[in-house]
Amino acid sequence: MSINIVGKNCCGCRTCKTICKFNAISVITDKYCFEQMSVDKNKCVECRMCEKVCPILNVQSSSERHSCGAAYALDNNIKFWGSSGGLFGVFSRQIILDGGCVYGAAFDNNLKLKTTSAETLNDLVPLYKSKYLLCDTDDKFIEIKLRLDKGKKVLYCSSPCQVAALKLYLKKNYENLLTVDFVCHGVGSQVLFDKSIEYSEKKLSAKIRNVVFRHKNKNASSHYYLYSCEKNKGKKFYKQDLYLSFPYYNAYCKQLICREGCYTCKYATGERCSDITIGDFHTIEKYDQSINRFAGISMFVCNSLKGELFFNSVKRYLFVKSFDWEVLKANNRFHSDGSKPQNQREFMESIANNPFEITVKKYLQPIRDWKKLIYYKSPSFLRNIVKKIGR
Ligand SMILES: Cc1cc2nc3c(=O)[nH]c(=O)nc-3n(C[C@H](O)[C@H](O)[C@H](O)COP(=O)(O)OP(=O)(O)OC[C@H]3O[C@@H](n4cnc5c(N)ncnc54)[C@H](O)[C@@H]3O)c2cc1C
Repeated sequence: MSINIVGKNCCGCRTCKTICKFNAISVITDKYCFEQMSVDKNKCVECRMCEKVCPILNVQSSSERHSCGAAYALDNNIKFWGSSGGLFGVFSRQIILDGGCVYGAAFDNNLKLKTTSAETLNDLVPLYKSKYLLCDTDDKFIEIKLRLDKGKKVLYCSSPCQVAALKLYLKKNYENLLTVDFVCHGVGSQVLFDKSIEYSEKKLSAKIRNVVFRHKNKNASSHYYLYSCEKNKGKKFYKQDLYLSFPYYNAYCKQLICREGCYTCKYATGERCSDITIGDFHTIEKYDQSINRFAGISMFVCNSLKGELFFNSVKRYLFVKSFDWEVLKANNRFHSDGSKPQNQREFMESIANNPFEITVKKYLQPIRDWKKLIYYKSPSFLRNIVKKIGR
């Protein structure tokens, strides 16, 4: 039952559940809609295997650091499909072309976010892009281990805590495994995401079949989303809009709905245990005005020699500009700042005690952010004037 000591710091990776031979661990949802691990006292034999694979009880880090900087995919399609510069797209294509397989996060047909594998370039499409909720690792670590043991090349891309979880599960270093994590400011829950989708479906009188966060309808930095919808009679349509009208995305951008442990994340540091870390580089113009951040630009850090060698092998598909580590550190979520909005607790109590609609009405009506609405919907020349005045 030792895994219970992790309590509210649990990152939800489910590795304890995967490793437990006695099926003593299951996933339950707490009153705030977060997934938590629950141990069945009658099945638990106190072997403490769950403790050994927990990335919160065994924080993984590395002090190695190789090259770092800014980069984007030279292929515009790959860049378009990524959230920022499409680095994941370039890495994953190379692994597939080398006969390997790639694991990332994709929605299934019921919009449940799960660790999903890709063995062809077509399979990769649902894996692209950030999805701002907890990804269910779905016992995929077992499959990854089997593939690695057979000598297959594997790329695993996920949040830093889930990458650490995989490493703990595997127990040893595999030359044929490449791990990529991202700068992460936390994840919300699948249950809350589901409630938000249900809310939007009622408003649209249609079923939402797919959701794209960070849809690049205007440019790479704006917070747009895209719903693929279907009416009763099968008529399909798309809805794209600002994050403010998608309650879950709105709450996420306001940092209201992350898991409790995300606010004090031990992995929000520069000492990453993955081979390569990727993230957004929204502040690039401060350092180099010739790079247009609106076109999509990522930051990268190679944390191991393996990461460095792999990065060099795909460099020909990338625009790359090196920067000092100090510059990248300015991307604040490398370092946990524990910032939690003042009304976060109150917001979560509302989630726990009211129907979802009530919380949306009280905290997430787009009109509450009318200044942002006007700003984001204005043409870019007006936004630039506002930005200059604001400086
Ligand atoms: C929850 C979350 C929070 C983030 N927070 C920040 C931040 O604060 N600052 C910052 O600079 N960057 C952040 N990022 C990273 C950023 O959004 C981009 O993913 C990153 O810049 C890589 O972009 P890309 O274009 O190279 O690849 P993309 O195509 O965007 O690749 C994203 C990769 O992450 C995987 N993935 C997506 N969602 C999840 C998930 N929920 N769990 C596990 N794996 C997932 C995808 O399968 C894919 O492998 C965050 C990403 C996520 C998913």
